[in-house]
Amino acid sequence: MSINKENGSRYHTRQRPSPRLPPMLPRYLVQAGFLVFYGWLIVQFALWTASLQTTGPPPSPRPVAIDGFLPYNGLVGLQYWLASGEWYPVHGAAAFIVLAALLSALLLKRGFCSWVCPVFPLSEGLWRLGEKLMGRTFAPPFWLDLFLRTFKYLLLGFILQRVFFMSFPQLQAYVDSSRHQLADIRLLHFFQSPSTTTLLVIVLLATACFCIQMAWCRYLCPYGALLGLLSLFSLVGVCRDPRRCIRCGLCSAKCPAWLPVMHKLRVRSPECFACYRCVHNCPAPGAVTLRAARRLVIPSLLFGILLLSLFAAMDLYGRFEGRWHDERAPQEIRRQMVELKQE
Ligand code: SF4
Ligand code: SF4
Repeated sequence: MSINKENGSRYHTRQRPSPRLPPMLPRYLVQAGFLVFYGWLIVQFALWTASLQTTGPPPSPRPVAIDGFLPYNGLVGLQYWLASGEWYPVHGAAAFIVLAALLSALLLKRGFCSWVCPVFPLSEGLWRLGEKLMGRTFAPPFWLDLFLRTFKYLLLGFILQRVFFMSFPQLQAYVDSSRHQLADIRLLHFFQSPSTTTLLVIVLLATACFCIQMAWCRYLCPYGALLGLLSLFSLVGVCRDPRRCIRCGLCSAKCPAWLPVMHKLRVRSPECFACYRCVHNCPAPGAVTLRAARRLVIPSLLFGILLLSLFAAMDLYGRFEGRWHDERAPQEIRRQMVELKQE
């Protein structure tokens, strides 16, 4: 019998699972793979953008997956498709990637957040570092936490209202504008030459994530808010088996979203990231699992494969629709850049 240092409860060490694939390992591997891929994408895109300053042709084509960093433009592309039945040819991949993320929330909870999004591992790394260095992280009182959590829904409401309440002529004018067409280049320049305010905001957010578990995802990310709301309809969820559970409290104590897993039979919260941290830390085999329709256990390896397959399928669909590339010639993009500078 051992004592859980975090809440003082007792648990049987002999019930620890026999050696098995650590449930969080597949997620860490997928996250690491995506981080390397994002690094490569950004370097390729920066080289391609720099080549536009010269008169010659770019050394390599624009890496289309960079559109994944444009969720707002992706939503606009989706709205364009809903309104016209056509995929808009510029930043088409942004719309497919957003669509894949929305479908993943319906099918696999917020797996996009904890497995694919680059902000999640940064945020997770920061609070774990904070916990190591300070011996703890901080949690706002319940009323303040609730109040702060409304911010991401307000931001989401504002964005959805802007995108989905545009008339079609307004939408057409927006997608044809340099503002939409150069959104990727503008974003790169924003981070390549950040203003003092931008740097201050980044430092402030990093400090918040260092002190409070997943502060950005919990309070401010509108994308996460949208995926969280859709995830409420998912048949997949964290389930606890009260017959196997020894009520040690580790699942609740280790949950980055502060969910009271030990007191639930099924976690229904929009805050659940499907991160497998509760499964990973549970000492009673099979007591807490991710399940589909409460029955079918989904091991983390299978979860990762399903998630990656969904994005691969969307990639193929985008290529099939002929929208997985940018149709603009470099001269056209150069002209738009001059136009935007003059605005
Ligand atoms: S489900 Fe939670 S409370 Fe129950 S044994 Fe596992 S970690 Fe402990
Ligand atoms: S309930 Fe489990 S899977 Fe969901 S966020 Fe908490 S630790 Fe992660």
